[in-house]
This record gives sequence, structure tokens and C-alpha cells, in this order.
Amino acid sequence: MLLKTESYTKPDDLGFYGEFGGAFIPELLRPNVEELDQVFMKCLSDEQFQKEYIQILKDYVGRPTPLYHSEKLSEKYGGTIYLKREDLNHTGAHKINNAIGQILLAKKMGRTKIIAETGAGQHGVATATTCALMNMECIVFMGEIDIARQTPNVKRMQFLGATVIPATSGSKTLKDATNEAIRFWINNPDSYYLIGSVVGPHPYPEMVAYFQSVISQEMREQLQQKTGSQLPTKVIACVGGGSNAAGAFYHYYREPEVKLIAVEASGLGLDSGKSAATSILGSPGVLHGSMTLLMQDESGQVTEPYSISAGLDYPGIGPLHAYSINEGRTQSVSVTDQQALAAAKALTRSDGIIPALESAHALAALEKITIESNDVIVVNLSGRGDKDMEHYL
Ligand SMILES: *Cc1c(COP(=O)(O)O)cnc(C)c1O
Repeated sequence: MLLKTESYTKPDDLGFYGEFGGAFIPELLRPNVEELDQVFMKCLSDEQFQKEYIQILKDYVGRPTPLYHSEKLSEKYGGTIYLKREDLNHTGAHKINNAIGQILLAKKMGRTKIIAETGAGQHGVATATTCALMNMECIVFMGEIDIARQTPNVKRMQFLGATVIPATSGSKTLKDATNEAIRFWINNPDSYYLIGSVVGPHPYPEMVAYFQSVISQEMREQLQQKTGSQLPTKVIACVGGGSNAAGAFYHYYREPEVKLIAVEASGLGLDSGKSAATSILGSPGVLHGSMTLLMQDESGQVTEPYSISAGLDYPGIGPLHAYSINEGRTQSVSVTDQQALAAAKALTRSDGIIPALESAHALAALEKITIESNDVIVVNLSGRGDKDMEHYL
């Protein structure tokens, strides 16, 4: 099985999806990003590369992940509800799909020092894991607050051999960790920056979406087997930067009968000033190397985001999602901390699956949308909740 690209909304040559995207970076990084773009473009048609990537996903990550029919959720909400079990991937979330793809690119480029930013720590763990596998040095930037609320993942990264550097500026969360990683990259252009979501300068958003597209590629085959059609009526995924959503939507962008629902964290509520619902509260601006929707005040200062979930606590959104939401192709829904916590508990008790707090936001959206009896809905269960046990208890 090779990855397909024909069903995807591609950016233009400069990485723009409509007005969003591009590469707003210091000149010093331009050669890095251009080299990466060339190597990535080559790998798209490189059968050897694809075979190696798919083989690792299969034997090491444990793909394909199951498409699980939840009878309990279907009964509760109506329709037929499936969970795409990204929580069953090695390291516990979808992040590893992308980390494997990019580390193979880094290897091709002859890089041995990998840097990454992380929020919940899932991307840091995935990166540290692939670095152990490929014998590379690993430095992970993580907000001080996230370090405190995601201790188990910090310990995992350190045990895997990574150096975890706390980001102590701003809200001390993902945005600040990303700033620190970019600063380090500018000073160390020989390192490879392994970005964990569909954000950052072109070609990262396109590349990360591509490496996550395996999710919807599998979904199509699995739905065909289970329902006789490759198309669901709705796909629901949570959005921090938007990589699991991009992967779950990828092969459905060009299928207008499939509704795409992106779920953002509204934290304590949309009007509370403590939220991360970027597509609703945001406006166009440049963040971390690309033009996108972001939460900012009148003077263009980035507003500190808030969500109980460290993986959704980001003031921006991938340019692909900004574009798709603006075009009306993707519908955005927002879910509060409390609604996500309730959905996590409900799934745990009904199906014996403890979801990540991020994924619980996607589940909670089932309460907020209209569901018909003939709906076939896939909720992308982006990760597992081991890391969130303290919050849940
Ligand atoms: C990181 C993370 C997210 C948010 O990141 P996206 O790029 O928006 O997918 C969602 N769920 C889990 C489990 C995560 O670890």
C-alpha cells in the first residue's frame, strides 16, 4: 500500500491555501526549508521511501489501527458511530505517523540532530522514540506549565534519551515551546526541526498532512469492508494545530457528501477569555512561519490560549484548516473543558476506552451536532488517556 495524494486539497507552489500558509521565515532558514521541500517532493514519488515508511508503520507502529464500531455510542446518539483507534498506535497517539515520516526525511538529508516542540508531550515522546530507533540526538522544547501537567510524558522522553528544555516565556505552553524551537533552529541550521502538526512554514503543513493521511486512507478501506461504501457521512476530529484532523479528512476533502467537523477547545467558554477556539475567535495573521487564523488583540499581540488539554492549547490553527473553514468545507464546533471531561468519562464507562483529553473534545462534539439515523460517523480517537489520568481522577 502506497500513500495516495489525489484526493487532497493541495497548496500552491509557495505553500498557500488561498490566503493562508506560505513561508514567513528569516532568510537564514530559507535554504533549510527549500532543501526540505525538494527532498519531500522527491519522496512523494520515491517507491523505496514509501515502502520503508509503510513497513515501519506496520511493524513498529502497529498499523492499520482498528476502525471500531461502538454500539453504545451508536445507541446513545443515533446513527452508526465508529472510532478510528489512533490511541492504539505505539506511543499512544497519531503523532508517531508523522514523526516516522519526517525522521526518514532527516536521514535522507544527512541530519543527526533533531529538535521538536511539544504540548501534551505526545509529539515529544513520538520524536524521542523515533530518534532512539534511528540513533539520532533529540532535543525537545516544552512549556514549563506543560512539563508540570504532563509529567509522565516528560519522564518517558528523558528515559528515551532526549533532552527536554523548558520554555519559560509567555504562557509557558505550546506556543512558547515552538518559539524556543524556532530560535534554536535559527542558531543551529544544521539541525532538523521535526514539527508535530500541520503548522509552520511551507512545506511543513502539507508534509505533516501527507504523513497523517494514512488515517483516512485506512478509513476508506475499512469502511468499504464494514458498510459497503468508502464514504462516511461525517468525520469528526479535534484540532490543536490540526494534524490528526488533516489526516482524518485528507481523503475526503474532494468528497462533498462527507461532512468534515473540526472540534476546537473553548476551554472555560468562548466568552471567558480562557479558550483556544481559534477559528471562531481568531483573525488572519502570521504565526510560527505561516499566515493563518490566530487569536490576537487589536495590536496583533498573540492572545494566550487556554484549554485543559495541553495538545489543544494553541493560539493558531493549520493554514489548511483556516482555509477550509473559511471556505465552508470544514465546519468548526467548539467544546469546553467540562464537556470534554464528561465525554471522556462516558466513553471510559460505556466502552472501556480511556481517551486522551484532546480526543475527548472530538467525542463531545457528538452532543452538539444533529445526527440522523442513517448517518455513518467516524470520530478520530487521536490518542489514549494514560497521560491524563490525574485530571480525570
Ligand atoms: C497532539 C495531540 C492532538 C492535537 O494535535 P493535532 O495536530 O491537532 O492533531 C490531539 N490529540 C492528541 C492525542 C494529541 O497528542
